[in-house]
Parts: sequence; structure tokens; C-alpha cells
Amino acid sequence: MASLSSFCPDLVGCLSQGAAGNPTVAMVEAAFRHHELPGRYINMEVAPSGLADAVKGLRVAGFRGFNLSMPHKVTVIPLLDGLGESAAVIGAVNCVVRRGDRLIGENTDGKGFLRSLTDLTNPRGKNIVLFGAGGAARAVAVELALAGAGHILLVNRSPERGYDLLKVLVDQLKCSADFQLWEGDFSLPEGTDIVINGTSIGLYDETVRLPLDTKSLRAEQIVADVVFSPPRTRLLREAQAVGCRTVDGLSMLVNQGVLGVEYWTGLLPDAGIMHRALSEAMGLVG
Ligand code: NDP
Repeated sequence: MASLSSFCPDLVGCLSQGAAGNPTVAMVEAAFRHHELPGRYINMEVAPSGLADAVKGLRVAGFRGFNLSMPHKVTVIPLLDGLGESAAVIGAVNCVVRRGDRLIGENTDGKGFLRSLTDLTNPRGKNIVLFGAGGAARAVAVELALAGAGHILLVNRSPERGYDLLKVLVDQLKCSADFQLWEGDFSLPEGTDIVINGTSIGLYDETVRLPLDTKSLRAEQIVADVVFSPPRTRLLREAQAVGCRTVDGLSMLVNQGVLGVEYWTGLLPDAGIMHRALSEAMGLVG
């Protein structure tokens, strides 16, 4: 595929703090190799005080783009030349794309989730319960609202972040939504179509339980979890036991990588190749 070299990336970066051994490097580079793109994806540890210099450096060095992890997702915004629609609403950027001379900030957190979800169902008109109101939940909620969700019930432990996100959904995106404080085991309302854990509950511990009354789960519901490690969280295992179809956080992470490669190269990469490379890098396959 030599003809791709005219538009393929030479260099794409990932600016993170404290993320040495980032497994997404293996995922993105596997796509470059598989599609014979002469690109490299380079993880760089950047302290908050160095972010402006790092962005300036990537700009002059001609990088096609870069990913960002916290805390850079928010502080990068004033350093960019523009924002995609959902990144502007979410107020966070995890993927920067060079378009001509401009560096444009996109948010692929929610878009990656939406792509995984739409493999199973279209969220348009659906009643959704979303646990959490942090960065990941915010990105997921905004994409669901932009995709025409019927109703989103936000459930969060702290009221401040819950009401802040509710305001974005209702006032900015004109989405039908409510907020409920999370106290004790939450019981899903009748008519719930999609249940999403957007919190960090269950991260790195497959035994941790989400405070949910699992007797309120129904087999026809789709249950999703943003937690990518372990991919089969306790919530997803319990949902599968009831007969629900599930979406895991690992596929969301893969789809974020797919979207990044699409943005940087214009090529739709092979998601299976990327999934396998990420799973291997995370030690999930032997
Ligand atoms: P934040 O710190 O921004 O938000 C954390 C959220 O979890 C908040 O809503 C917080 O509630 C809630 N929470 C944490 N602990 C508890 C608890 N014990 N009980 C109730 N609520 C709790 O984190 P992020 O949103 O950035 O990340 C959340 C998860 O999403 C992480 O596991 C992260 O790895 C994952 N993620 C996955 C991605 C993927 O591609 N699969 C992409 C990005 C993130 P409160 O507001 O009350 O503090």
C-alpha cells in the first residue's frame, strides 16, 4: 500500500503523565504495521508544567496528532486552534488531529463507547441509566445525547458533578435527562433499555461490586462498563448471568484507537488486529 504514504502519519504522539508502558502504543503501532503505514506512535511523559512546550514541539516537528491522558485533556484546550463538536461540549480533548496547519482537539472517549454500543443497539430514543459523572461518564453522556438518546438518568455519588453534567445535557444539548443521588443499592426503573457503568468502580479488581440491585436487571437490557481492566467486570458477569447482552470497556478503548488512526491517516484500520495487540500488551491473552 505504498500510495498511502503520501497521507499517512510519520509521527503520532501520546502525552501522558505517569503512564510508562502504555499498552495503547502496541495497539496503534499494530495498526500501522498491519496496514503498512510508515508511522510511529510514541508515548511521552510530560509534566503539567511542560505541556505548552510539548505541544509547540509536536507542532513544529510536524506530528500528525497526539493523544492525551489526564490531566492534559483539559489544559491542552487553550493551546489548540479549534475543537470538534463533542470535545467543545465535553470540555476535554483526548485526541489532537493536524488539519492543514491547525491542531484540532477531538474527544474519542465517548465516540469509542458509542461505536461499541451501536454494534448491539442504536441509542436513539432509548431509556438509559448512566452511573457516574466524571470524565468518562461525561464523554459518554454527551455522545449519547448527540446520538438522540430518549432519556438519560444520571446516577452519581456526589451531587455537584451530577448536576453539572445534567445542565450540559438539558441546557446545551436539549436532551431529556434527570439526576438521582446514588445512595445504597440503586434499583433500575421499569423501561430501562441500557445500563452503563461510567465510574471507576471495578477498575483493577474483578470482585468489586457496583451498588446496584441486580434483581432489577432484565434480560432484554444492554449493560455496558467503561472499565477496561478487567474487561469482564463483576457488573458484566452478573448482567450476563441474567441474560443481558454486554459491552466492555476494552472494546471502547479499542474503538478510541480505531478513531484516532482514522483521524490521523484517513484509513479505517482493522479493529480485530488492534484488539488483539491491546489484549496482548495488557497480558489478557497467553
Ligand atoms: P473520574 O475520576 O473523572 O470520575 C470517577 C467517577 O466514578 C465519578 O463519577 C465518581 O463519583 C465515581 N466513583 C468513583 N468511586 C466511586 C465509589 N466508590 N462509589 C461511587 N462512585 C464512585 O474518572 P474517569 O471518568 O476519568 O474514569 C472513570 C473510569 O473510566 C476509569 O475506570 C477509567 O479507567 C475508565 N475509562 C475508560 C475508558 C475506555 O476507553 N474504556 C476511557 C476513559 C476512562 P464522584 O463524582 O462522586 O466522585
